[in-house]
Amino acid sequence: MNIAFYPGSFDPITLGHLNIIRRSSRLFDKLHVCVMVNSAKQPLFTAEERVELIERTVKHLGNVFVDTSNELVVKHAKALGASVIIKGLRAVSDFDKEFQMALANKIIAPQIETLFMTSSSKYTYLSSTVVKEMARYGTDLSEFVPHQIIDDIMRKMHNGEKRVSQ
Ligand code: ADP
Repeated sequence: MNIAFYPGSFDPITLGHLNIIRRSSRLFDKLHVCVMVNSAKQPLFTAEERVELIERTVKHLGNVFVDTSNELVVKHAKALGASVIIKGLRAVSDFDKEFQMALANKIIAPQIETLFMTSSSKYTYLSSTVVKEMARYGTDLSEFVPHQIIDDIMRKMHNGEKRVSQ
C-alpha cells in the first residue's frame, strides 16, 4: 500500500492546503494529514481544533486521515508506514527552506521520499497568515478557506476582541 504524509501547521486549513490534499489523495492509497505542533509558534487554534476543522473539510475523501503530532516529521511519517512526505510549493521562497529540510530528512530516513507539489496558480498567494489577517478585518473568507470553517475562524478571531473597522 502506498501511503503519503502531509504535515503542516494548518492554522487554519486553507483552500491552498485543500487543493494539495485533494490532488495527493488521488495519487496514493492513503493520505495522512498531520497537524504538527510547533512550540515556537503561538497558534490561533489548538492542535485538536485544527484536526477537527480539517476532518470536517475532507470528510468526502475516503482515503484521507487526520491527526496531530509533536514528533519529528520523518519519525511520525515512518510510524504511520508512509513512504512519501508531501510538501506544497507556492513560490521560490518556500523552496529554499523545504529543500534544506528534505535533504536533512533524507539523511535521517533514507527510505522516505519528499514529493514537492506545485500550488495551483489560483492559490500561490494563499497562506494561513493571509487568512488570519483578512479575518481580523472581518473580510469575507469564502475565496480563501473551505466554507464549512468560515464561522469558526470568525468566532475565534473576534472572541473577546473587537473587529477592526474597515
Ligand atoms: P502556512 O502557515 O504558510 O499556510 P503550513 O505549515 O500550514 O503553512 O503549510 C503546510 C504545507 O502546505 C506546506 O508544505 C506548505 O508549503 C503547503 N502550502 C501552504 N499553503 C499552500 C498553498 N496555498 N498552495 C500550496 N501549498 C501550500
